[in-house]
Amino acid sequence: MKDIIERLKKVNECDLHLSMIKKDLERLPKELAGQEALPKALRTSIDRAKAEIVRLKMEADAAELEVKSGEEALKRYAGQLNILRHNKEFEAVRRQMDAQRAWNKENESKCYKLLEEAEAKQKALENDSAALAEAEQALALETERVNQTVAELRAQYESLTAEREQMTKDVPDRELELYNRVVSARGQAIAHVESGICSACFMKVPAQVHNLALLGQELVCCPSCGRILTAG
Ligand SMILES: [Zn+2]
Repeated sequence: MKDIIERLKKVNECDLHLSMIKKDLERLPKELAGQEALPKALRTSIDRAKAEIVRLKMEADAAELEVKSGEEALKRYAGQLNILRHNKEFEAVRRQMDAQRAWNKENESKCYKLLEEAEAKQKALENDSAALAEAEQALALETERVNQTVAELRAQYESLTAEREQMTKDVPDRELELYNRVVSARGQAIAHVESGICSACFMKVPAQVHNLALLGQELVCCPSCGRILTAG
């Protein structure tokens, strides 16, 4: 039985390694998916900025048109002034001209502000585009690295599984079943009794169980944690 326990210890090392590989195989693709968030956010921000720039430029064009038609209106008023003699009407057109000038000025500054805003957005968009290119490059490198690691881990997993199969061949079914139960619950399946204490859960092992472990004629489990005990 001691040989079988020794064999199971090796199987356990293999199983612990396999479970580590399995965890990495689950973790790595998740981490990679997390790194896709930055380029995705940048793409959304760039699309929004593009739409906003189009809107701002359209509004600026409208304001510019308004300024042009305002200037035409001023010219018409100026023409009217030339032919008006009556003082009262002259004053009325002059006031209209003042109002038109104020309106034109307002539209001019509106147009200027809109174009300035569009320019600032364009600069932000260019920064985002540069950041996106960088993020996409980093992601491509990371994807390549992760894919390579995953392929290596899969190959390792397969070869360890084959190795394990080879190792468990001469372990009797009953002992192997017990071991498999313990390993799926505990991971580390084998513990040692030292000074009457289980090395895994640190609980006191009854003398009778300790003696059975020392005899080594059957597999004995720790009554507290269920691990297979070795002694001596
Ligand atoms: Zn224990």
